[in-house]
Amino acid sequence: MTEKTATQKVKFVSPAKLYQTIKTEIDAAYFDVMNKGALINQQHLRDFEANLAKFVGTKYAVGVNSGYDALMLSVKYKIKSPDDEVIVPAHTFVASCSAIVNGGGKPVLVDVTKDFNIDCDKIEAAITPKTRGIMAVHLSGWMADMPRILEIAKKHNLWVIEDACQSLGSSINGKGAGSWGFSGCWSFYPFKILGGYGDGGGITTDDAEFAAWARRLRYNGEDRDTGEYHAHGMTCLLDNMQAAFLDVKLRHLPAWIVRRKKIAARYKEALGDLPNLTLPHYATPGFDHIYQNYTLLAKEGDKFSNWMKEHGVEVLTQFRKPYYKHAGLGLKDTGFPVTETISREVCSLPMCVEIADEEVEYVIQTVRAFYGK
Ligand SMILES: *Cc1c(COP(=O)(O)O)cnc(C)c1O
Repeated sequence: MTEKTATQKVKFVSPAKLYQTIKTEIDAAYFDVMNKGALINQQHLRDFEANLAKFVGTKYAVGVNSGYDALMLSVKYKIKSPDDEVIVPAHTFVASCSAIVNGGGKPVLVDVTKDFNIDCDKIEAAITPKTRGIMAVHLSGWMADMPRILEIAKKHNLWVIEDACQSLGSSINGKGAGSWGFSGCWSFYPFKILGGYGDGGGITTDDAEFAAWARRLRYNGEDRDTGEYHAHGMTCLLDNMQAAFLDVKLRHLPAWIVRRKKIAARYKEALGDLPNLTLPHYATPGFDHIYQNYTLLAKEGDKFSNWMKEHGVEVLTQFRKPYYKHAGLGLKDTGFPVTETISREVCSLPMCVEIADEEVEYVIQTVRAFYGK
């Protein structure tokens, strides 16, 4: 392979290509919505919510406008005082932390381990008399250690919210992500494992009162049956049209996860011998990785990710600059050594159902060429 002459381009995701594989069903959903003029809070939304709750394994699901809204509403429901502290990993998408701040609480950051999830051994040291909850984040399709987190939470009388935005379909001992904590929060942003054709999100919970509260809050605080405003709410429903599309895609998700696991297995087989790479294959019994992302660590950091990009492979490097280092957020960097390392080395290879086998092979060749193999 010669310098800067990419013979091929491999995209990180190709929504238009995936659409072609489910076009008949998506188009039918579109025409159904359009012919009925069913735009806001209609049957498609209720159907999708019922199917999402069933898939996750909770009693209720509430569709909202984004993963952020799902998180923020969950936090807002639980926060009682501006002094309430919530534990959140130092390595996550900024929305996990912003939801705590905008939900009225104070984020307390805790470092992660090399599987990108919160380091359970460091949680108790961060607990103070003001701690009220833990936001567990399941990154890339691999769950944080929920049995351990729930044990710590029980001991200290804390609630747990799951940021499961990257892990729909993942599980521990057969129990689904988003069904462990008080609430599970989902993003249907187009590039997530279940992506809509625009923004979208959802909450799953077993708590009837919270589900009813979230249904009102997403709709200006109004109980639509009585017309009563119960609180100052917002407008953040999942669009009925998006719900119709997501309901179609949810039916395909189990098969798509099988395909993702196959791609991950191929990456492992072909790249497992490279000593400077740490691949995302973890051997915790009972934990199921569904590979929303194939996120590895490369000792060479930017040199590696730039090489991939220069050779036509679209890779993601989330997050090179940890969110707590962005001055505008007003957070304190109290030292998160693993997050620092991960941030330098992180790189996600293309991982999506619509990627062709030849493209996977090209990604592999490009990685191996970087190491002179
Ligand atoms: C995508 C994501 C969110 C936010 O989802 P949006 O729908 O974009 O608001 C929150 N947390 C994590 C871990 C995510 O990956």
